[in-house]
Amino acid sequence: MSGPGFVVEARLTEPPDSSRPVLGRTGTWHTPHGLIRTPAFIPVGTKATVKAVLPEMMAELGAQALLANAYHLYLQPGAQIVEEAGGLGSFMNWSGPTFTDSGGFQVLSLGVGFKKVIAMESAGVRHDDVVAAGKDRLAQVDDDGVTFKSHLDGSMHRFTPEVSMQVQHQLGADIIFAFDECTTLLNTRGYQESSVARTQDWARRCLLEHARLTAERAQLPYQQLLGVVQGAQYEDLRRQSARGLVSLGPEGQGLSGTGFDGFGIGGALQKAELGTIVRWVCEELPDTAPRHLLGIGDPIDLFTGVEQGADTFDCVAPTRNARNAAIYTRHGRFNITASANRRAFAPIDEECGCYTCRHYTRAYLHHAFRAKEMIAATLASIHNEYCIVQLVEGMRLAIEAGTYWDYKEEVLGRMGLALAGSP
Ligand SMILES: [Zn+2]
Repeated sequence: MSGPGFVVEARLTEPPDSSRPVLGRTGTWHTPHGLIRTPAFIPVGTKATVKAVLPEMMAELGAQALLANAYHLYLQPGAQIVEEAGGLGSFMNWSGPTFTDSGGFQVLSLGVGFKKVIAMESAGVRHDDVVAAGKDRLAQVDDDGVTFKSHLDGSMHRFTPEVSMQVQHQLGADIIFAFDECTTLLNTRGYQESSVARTQDWARRCLLEHARLTAERAQLPYQQLLGVVQGAQYEDLRRQSARGLVSLGPEGQGLSGTGFDGFGIGGALQKAELGTIVRWVCEELPDTAPRHLLGIGDPIDLFTGVEQGADTFDCVAPTRNARNAAIYTRHGRFNITASANRRAFAPIDEECGCYTCRHYTRAYLHHAFRAKEMIAATLASIHNEYCIVQLVEGMRLAIEAGTYWDYKEEVLGRMGLALAGSP
């Protein structure tokens, strides 16, 4: 590994009313496949593809890195195939930095037959749907790992910290995550405590296996391993989880001065508490370590995360919304299939610089969605990803220029979002 993993550059200035301290910063994250200038939004290519969008277009719209899911690639096509192809980036024709998540979230969400929202929202879900014994459950957590049923063919599989590391080494992304147990807001306090302890033990085992695999595969580019902080909505558990990960050695092995090269912030994050939780965690982490906030992509949440010290973010929302005809604009979202767009021979947004807005009209997108043409998803995804990538890029530039608070007020004001979403 040449050069440091992460270098902090500019600091976010205090807000005008100085109501609360902030931890935001800009930085440069060095990887074997290039730099990531932070804060940065990392688009998700779940199965080694950003759905409906070519990698060349992802680069053109400003994406600096892509994140794929270890769980999905393990099941299909299999980590061995990706390794034989030369690793994730080579396999998917993406020359920039890559991330893979650990599979922990998917084995516990898809693995129990629910969509992603289960970790974020409590409505209509009982905690024993997720963690208690029940004959319909597809995932079983024990202290050693998780046994789960494939959502593809029902076959049984088992992920342990060691398996997650082996899979992620085979996938070969530049930045990888420790295997963690992702709980929900519905788990009891007692369960959260035991889960944090389990995640800590799994983090220790991930470091050992990562060190073993790194030595065994010394001819390959170094992969940076991030520990994942859990602890749900509890301040003591969040701080304990962060401190526990920081304490893990071997001392100095990782690029951040701890055993890990950086940290992820995962698990249940209610919107209203997001900034507070990110702040608790970042206060415990070394300043020199990059912090990735997992699964966050709403504009107001991105502002909040940046202010409290998160450096990178990922979320499937821009492409998922695009496929559902929900189009982002500088003034909020709208649905392109609404009949008002039938003869709208203007771009989605006159001021947007994306490929879609430079070449296509709302009327064409409206037609493509109504006609169920595949190009609809492509054009809408390009625009939505551009909006979010450039929103966060704008935060980075504004921190550097000392104009962050004006930028935030302007952006959220235009979207009609109150600034009250901040902690
Ligand atoms: Zn656009």
